[in-house]
Amino acid sequence: MNLSFDNTQNAFAYKSTADLKKAKFLISAIQSPIMVTLATKVTPVLMKYGMPINGILRSTVFKQFVGGETLEESARTSKLLGSYGVQVILDYGVEAKEGESNFDDVTEHIIEAIDFAATQNNIPFVSVKLTGIASMALLEHLNEAPRLRSGIHDSESENAEWQRVRERMYAICDVAQEKGVGILLDAEETWIQDPIDRLAVELMAVYNKENVVVYNTYQLYRNDRLIFLQLSHRIAKEKGFLLGAKLVRGAYMEKERERAQQNGYPSPIHLDKEATDKDFDAAALYCIQNKETISLLLATHNEASNIQIATEMKNAGLDNNYNRVHFSQLYGMGDHITFNMASKGYNVSKYLPFGPISEVIPYLMRRAEENSSVNGQTNKELVMIKRELARRKHKK
Ligand SMILES: Cc1cc2nc3c(=O)[nH]c(=O)nc-3n(C[C@H](O)[C@H](O)[C@H](O)COP(=O)(O)OP(=O)(O)OC[C@H]3O[C@@H](n4cnc5c(N)ncnc54)[C@H](O)[C@@H]3O)c2cc1C
Repeated sequence: MNLSFDNTQNAFAYKSTADLKKAKFLISAIQSPIMVTLATKVTPVLMKYGMPINGILRSTVFKQFVGGETLEESARTSKLLGSYGVQVILDYGVEAKEGESNFDDVTEHIIEAIDFAATQNNIPFVSVKLTGIASMALLEHLNEAPRLRSGIHDSESENAEWQRVRERMYAICDVAQEKGVGILLDAEETWIQDPIDRLAVELMAVYNKENVVVYNTYQLYRNDRLIFLQLSHRIAKEKGFLLGAKLVRGAYMEKERERAQQNGYPSPIHLDKEATDKDFDAAALYCIQNKETISLLLATHNEASNIQIATEMKNAGLDNNYNRVHFSQLYGMGDHITFNMASKGYNVSKYLPFGPISEVIPYLMRRAEENSSVNGQTNKELVMIKRELARRKHKK
């Protein structure tokens, strides 16, 4: 396989030595679970009481993981990435802000992002979190109530609320289709995921007739998702639409396990990492084996998973830039994968959130938590940064 992630010069060419040193400091700091537990508990409280911590956040975690506070700021980042052949998934990072006018406001921002993406040659996707445009309580209720699931609504007001959510999504997808931009519907917690999945299937049936406009996200840390992916594919074939499949392992493991334990139901999450890895790789393989009817977006920092699909592409005689396979990593993570894949011509992107600091806190806290467990990938990140700093020093 002619793909390696070891070239640190490629991986960090876009970062100055000063920025690389900052990244090293930050990643070392957030590898400490105690630091992260403290930060994730204390930061939201400090923000709530208006303490002046924006400056610290802006020059640390925000700079590492977020494109900017506005679309204009993140445009600079996305242009820089584009100059290295890296594509961008734009994400208006506001989460779970309740209220109809906030939901309309988020919808507007998403549409603005789509309009902007259409003017750039390296932004093929915009992502959408349904909790940005729908109330958590509504989604939870829809998730629980079997009668609502079948479309027979108990409550007129909830029915109207759900209609407004659907209208927001249709408005977003109409613009996306017209402008040729893909929409990635993020996956969230299991207790609100059912209505998200149903809406995703509904939208795919409308918008994915000829090209894939809408992608649903499949979290393979869930023990039912491989089958769900296959079921979604069967529905797509029966109804005559193309499936957009964004595969992730899943970001809410601790929360999911805690809630299952507290409420006495079996955890929906695989028992161990190996089982998650096995389903993730099987799902990716399934998508590529069905590439005529599935567009795959492989969203992972896991080297082995990326290599597996790159190898499958090669074995199937597909070009590196084959348009039904796309790779992606989060901005601030996995640069050695992104930039080395870009240098070989793969379709590879950074998931680039933007938004006001106060609004992207939940996203930042998840990234800090994710990097705090001293696992192989995070350590690798730090090793690569140190290696590149040593290389630059040696060159002087
Ligand atoms: C572009 C992009 C978009 C994303 N969008 C979403 C999204 O919409 N929804 C979402 O939930 N997440 C999303 N994520 C985050 C993703 O789910 C993972 O949290 C993150 O990518 C880490 O997984 P990995 O495959 O990169 O790395 P790895 O280090 O290989 O895997 C870590 C992951 O494995 C799983 N895991 C770890 N330990 C165990 C264990 N003991 N038992 C079972 N499973 C375990 C967890 O999911 C953990 O996050 C996205 C990630 C990317 C790159």
